[in-house]
Amino acid sequence: MHVRAIAILGATGSIGTTTLSVVRAHPDRLRVAGLAAHSRWRELVAPAKEFGVGVIALADPAAAAEARASGAFPAGTRILEGIAGLTEVACLPEVSMVVSAVVGTAGLAPTLAALKAKKDVALASKELLVLAGKFVTEAARVSGARLLPVDSEHNAIHQLLRDKPKGDIARLVLTASGGAFRDTPLADLRHVTLAQALKHPNWSMGPKVTIDSATMANKGLEVIEARWLFDIPAERIDVVVHPQSIIHSLVTLADGSLQALLSPPSMAYPIQDCLLYPARLPCPAPHLDLTQALTLGMAPPDPARYPCLGLARSAATTGGTAPPSSTRPMRSPSLNSSPASCPSPASRNSLAGPAIFNAANEVAVAEFVAGKLPFTGIAELVGRALATLSAREPASLDEVLATDADTRVATSRLALGLAR
Ligand code: NAD
Ligand code: MG
Repeated sequence: MHVRAIAILGATGSIGTTTLSVVRAHPDRLRVAGLAAHSRWRELVAPAKEFGVGVIALADPAAAAEARASGAFPAGTRILEGIAGLTEVACLPEVSMVVSAVVGTAGLAPTLAALKAKKDVALASKELLVLAGKFVTEAARVSGARLLPVDSEHNAIHQLLRDKPKGDIARLVLTASGGAFRDTPLADLRHVTLAQALKHPNWSMGPKVTIDSATMANKGLEVIEARWLFDIPAERIDVVVHPQSIIHSLVTLADGSLQALLSPPSMAYPIQDCLLYPARLPCPAPHLDLTQALTLGMAPPDPARYPCLGLARSAATTGGTAPPSSTRPMRSPSLNSSPASCPSPASRNSLAGPAIFNAANEVAVAEFVAGKLPFTGIAELVGRALATLSAREPASLDEVLATDADTRVATSRLALGLAR
């Protein structure tokens, strides 16, 4: 039987370690050829030994030097460093699938390189599609590599769409758990703590995506992610709050009927779907037990509780609310400027808007984690960034990256005006 060799970018994270548990369950189908992470090299020693991995990459060169000097890895293990090291791991000749699960956008260059080298990519890092969806999907189309979504909602939709012509699909419906503060009184949201924000009711995930779930910035990113993965405009992508996280998403068909995909809230399911695609084998995570009573609820999201969702939608379609860059330079945001009310129609399906939303949200989450912003300050800061900043629609990946970098600098400055 053919054994698929995979490389995992973000191997120490929540998705990375769940990926290893799926590989462990299917040793006759899967093996690990490369592991990469930011700096926590000690957590790579055990999997490197268990799976006989010959190549490791650490984005942080100091951590790579420490790992080499430690002698903790088996003799002959190559320990690479920097983004170039991650890229080399992703493009190893024996690798046929790359799991792209670096939080944020640091995994962009290695992921693009893997797609160009015709490696299939199991994509967890939604930020890459939000920032550079046009370029990521183009790279896959040109080389013929498969881009398989790991994000549970998108994986569900991918499964639901497999046997359907595009014309049969009217709308996509992404489910959202509602996050840690689904039932918290609105007036209390300003005072919730980081520890409370990190307690997700259903999923065990990394800190960034857990906080993004509480604000629903995550679902906003996912609307943009779906727009690129399935080539459907954001206006035809709905969001519904489904507290149990068992229905992972739905598609509305042309006749108005809906189809859904159900599984327990474990990322092992979508990860395994990607790793074994198109084969189906028993998943190592617990299965749904229908001998027990099961309640499945759905409700529309409350815009007052989740302002980040509306911000993401407007960013996706209009590029935010700021006037064009000819009248407002990107690098000099002003806290006092008022947003213009009429976005230019030319900026529909903007690349700039999602880039600004994503970068501003990353800065805002970091400020909240550092105790410098209240929880409600995340949406306020992202809203100000979108209302204040404007960038010319990027024509190239370099221009998108410049918008990303400029937004980070400008949002950090805007944050000073909102600090606790
Ligand atoms: P995590 O915080 O648990 O792990 C992040 C991983 O990224 C770690 O291995 C870390 O070493 C690596 N990393 C961080 N910065 C890096 C850098 N500069 N260079 C190289 N590596 C770096 O995050 P996670 O929850 O596993 O999420 C990973 C991605 O998957 C995110 O984009 C997230 O939105 C997405 N995702 C996660 C889940 C989930 O259930 N955890 C579900 C859907 C999508
Ligand atoms: Mg998701």
